[in-house]
Amino acid sequence: MDSLDPADWSDLRALGHRMIDDMVDHLQTLREGPVWQPMPESLRAELRQPLPRDPSPLGSVYADFRRLVQPYATGNLHPRFMGWVHGGGNPVGMLAELLAAGLNANLGGRDHAPIEVERQVIAWAAEMLGFPSEAGGVLVTGSSMANFIGVLVARTASEGPAVRQTGVSGRGLVGYASAAAHGCLPRAMEMAGLGREALRMIPFDADGRMRVDLLRQRIAQDRAAGLRPFLVVGTAGSVDIGAIDDLAALADVAAHESLWFHVDGAFGATALLAPALRPKLAGIERADSVAFDFHKWAQVPYDAGCVVVRDPTRQIETFGAEAAYLRREQRGLAGGGVWPCDLGPDLSRGFRALKVWMTLSVYGADALGQVVQAGCDLAAALAARVDREPELERLAPVALNIVCFRYRAAAGDLDRLNADIVADLQEAGIAAPSTTLVNGVLAIRAALVNHRTTADDIAIMVDAVLRLGRARAAG
Ligand SMILES: *Cc1c(COP(=O)(O)O)cnc(C)c1O
Repeated sequence: MDSLDPADWSDLRALGHRMIDDMVDHLQTLREGPVWQPMPESLRAELRQPLPRDPSPLGSVYADFRRLVQPYATGNLHPRFMGWVHGGGNPVGMLAELLAAGLNANLGGRDHAPIEVERQVIAWAAEMLGFPSEAGGVLVTGSSMANFIGVLVARTASEGPAVRQTGVSGRGLVGYASAAAHGCLPRAMEMAGLGREALRMIPFDADGRMRVDLLRQRIAQDRAAGLRPFLVVGTAGSVDIGAIDDLAALADVAAHESLWFHVDGAFGATALLAPALRPKLAGIERADSVAFDFHKWAQVPYDAGCVVVRDPTRQIETFGAEAAYLRREQRGLAGGGVWPCDLGPDLSRGFRALKVWMTLSVYGADALGQVVQAGCDLAAALAARVDREPELERLAPVALNIVCFRYRAAAGDLDRLNADIVADLQEAGIAAPSTTLVNGVLAIRAALVNHRTTADDIAIMVDAVLRLGRARAAG
């Protein structure tokens, strides 16, 4: 065998065309199928095979994909997937992934067009955030990584680049976030070697927004105890209920206390694209860094997270590396300015930027803003329906696109009942909300993220909750 390329390209070409046809059919007929179905044990067993030493025809491996994998995926393409905060993807992004894999570009560095595409995407992100045009940033797997980068850049900004040599131990660095902040933030503190206790989780108010008065108090207490506050994290779209911290007030506190102001806008930052929602995020344009995802509300296929840093030199000071084998030149392929490997922990990186660039270019940012607005409108309508139904109870205010509610029964364990209703809905393939705890109570949580979801889908989900709730409550 000479290479991994086929001897006869025409078979590959024909199969490739069929794969695209099949996947387009899949997208076209999504609504008719179940949202999700569990993978049968027999098929899981079939998937477990020793390392294949001998070749198999692509056609038969593709048949395995069609039989073993495709029917048992997460379901987040489906209009009635409302669980967690999952993006629905889009067909343009899907094709972009094919093109990106075709080029197989490595975006760690060097001088080539795919990196220019990523720089353009970062410039668009900065524009969306209202950041200055010199802002920098990098695409990463998701907001977990983007928030981690934010914490590390904040650490360097506070302690100076020498902290990379000496480490953080014994410095008494402490940061602040809402108690409603995503779990990836305490984890980022852990991974940064600061320890999760160094992230002070500040209580939130009835609307789920960080109590700014308690933040100020805690900073003063920590300073009095000889600690070094360095970071305030604002949440723009909390994972439980979609609450948005008072970002302008947090920016004021950060400025007054000389702290780095980072915003976790994993899905909420996308609301900047919807003119009626943009004011809710006022203050985000004053952040030092923002983490958000293109793969959630912006509908780009997984994975596509993004961190944007107002002052790009801070990011380079945090990650820039000099290694002989990564030597930069003024000309040739080793030129090309700042390399993305100097902006985060990854060296080899794929061409994530293409699916973002093509999605934004084809649909336009305004259309994505309309998707975001539609999700919020559906959430408001769902909340109104919940409020009208005597058997349902709403458990949290609706700031954006997330509605938390539960089925009420006269007696019995309501947490168990509602968890069962959600599992019933999922296993029947009718709809896939998820659950969370709101004030210690188990909630059915519907996050309206998918661009395919309609008012009819909401009605089908609520009707099914009522039906399943009555059946279970009747025993
Ligand atoms: C989803 C989410 C994250 C984590 O983002 P990933 O892309 O899943 O890594 C962080 N913060 C919030 C508020 C989120 O909703």
